[in-house]
Amino acid sequence: MSDVLLPGATLGVLGGGQLGRMFLHAAQSLGYRTVVLDPDADSPAGAVAHEHIRADYLDEAALAALAAACDAITTEFENVPAHALELLAAQRPVAPAASCVAICQDRAAEKAHFRAAGVDGAPYAVIATEADLQAVPDSLLPGILKTARMGYDGKGQVRVRSRAELQAAWSELKQVACVLEQLLPLQLELSVIVARGRDGTVVQFPVQQNLHRDGILAVTEVPAPAVDAALQARAAESAARIATEMGYVGVLCIEFFLLQDGRLVVNEMAPRPHNSGHYTLNACDASQFELQVRALAGLPLITPRLHSPTVMLNLLGDLWFDPQDPASAAREPDWAGVLALPGTHLHLYGKANARRGRKMGHLNVSAATPEAARATARRAAALLGLPETW
Ligand code: ATP
Ligand code: MG
Repeated sequence: MSDVLLPGATLGVLGGGQLGRMFLHAAQSLGYRTVVLDPDADSPAGAVAHEHIRADYLDEAALAALAAACDAITTEFENVPAHALELLAAQRPVAPAASCVAICQDRAAEKAHFRAAGVDGAPYAVIATEADLQAVPDSLLPGILKTARMGYDGKGQVRVRSRAELQAAWSELKQVACVLEQLLPLQLELSVIVARGRDGTVVQFPVQQNLHRDGILAVTEVPAPAVDAALQARAAESAARIATEMGYVGVLCIEFFLLQDGRLVVNEMAPRPHNSGHYTLNACDASQFELQVRALAGLPLITPRLHSPTVMLNLLGDLWFDPQDPASAAREPDWAGVLALPGTHLHLYGKANARRGRKMGHLNVSAATPEAARATARRAAALLGLPETW
C-alpha cells in the first residue's frame, strides 16, 4: 500500500469539461489539491481547480508541467491523445492507462475487446477499404455506419438501408475507418458504471436505464424500472469482465442494449465517469467521481449503496431559449420553481453561453420511492419545458 496517495497530495486531470469539474469537486472534498490541463480559458473544470494549465493536450512542456505539479493524473474525455497519457505515465501514475483509453477510442478495437471478454455485441464489420465495403454481408443491412474514432452524442453515424446508401454514407464520412453495425430492434438502453482499483478490486453502481433524444442522453432512472434482477446481474457481471480483461484502473462506463427479444448486447464504453452516472451524486453514498478519486489515489474502493431512487434530467442549452420564439435571447430557466419541488438537486457546469444541444447541467430528483421520484421529475420537466413522458 506504499503507493497510496493520501489527502493533501495533488491530483491532476486532462480535460476541463464538466466531468473534470465534478472530479475536482470530489477530490477537493476529500482534501486533495487539484490541477487541470485544458486549452480553454473558461473551462468548467479550470474554474474550480487550484491550478489551471492553459495549453493544448499535446503541448509537451505543458504535459511536463502537469506531471511535475501532480502526484497522479486521470483524464475526463476519451479522445485525449494516447501519446499525452504515455508521456505523463513515464513520470507519474496515470489511470486509466493509455492502452485502455486507446481501446475505447476505436470502435473496432473496442468491439474486438468485447468479443475477447466473451460479451455479445451487435453483429458488425470493420470498413477501412473499398474491398471491406464490398465484402460486407447483406445480413448487416439495415445497419448503422459509425466512424471508428471521435464519435459522440450520435455524431459520426449514418443509418443505411441498402448497399447504395452504405456506399453514399461512407463517402459522406470521407471514407475514414468505420464499423457497420446491424440495426438492432431495441427495447431499451442501459449502462453500468464500474470502478476498478490497482489491486483488481471491482465495485459497481446499480444498473441505469437511459433514454436518449436526438442521439443525446435525456433521462436516466435508477433503479432501472424495466429491468429485472437477473438481467441486472448479467449486465453487471459482463461489465466487470470487460474492465478486468483490460486490466483497467479507474471508472469505466459500459452501455448496453436490451433487445425486444430479451437479449442483452453491449454497445460501447467510456473510460471515465459518464453522463448516465450523474444521478450517483445524490442517489448513492459515494458518487462515480468519488470512486474515480479513490481509484486514482489507490484508496480503498467501497461498494456504493443506492439510498434514494433517482431520476436524472439532462439540461441542454435548448432550455435557455423560448421554444415559441427560437430567435429570442437566452434567458435563465425557472430554477426557483424547480428547486421548490422536494428532492430536486440542481447541478450546473458554469458554462457562460447556452447553445442548443450543449450540456449545461443536470437535475437529479431523488425520493423515497421510484414512483415519487418519477412524479416529481415530471413536474420539474413541465416547469422546464421538457417532455413530461418517457
Ligand atoms: P455517446 O453519446 O453515447 O458517446 P455515440 O455517438 O458514441 O454516443 P452510440 O452509443 O454508438 O453513439 O449510438 C448512439 C445511439 O444510437 C444509441 O444510444 C442507440 O440509441 C442508437 N444505436 C446505436 N447503435 C445501434 C444499433 N446497432 N442498433 C440500434 N440502435 C443503435
Ligand atoms: Mg453511446
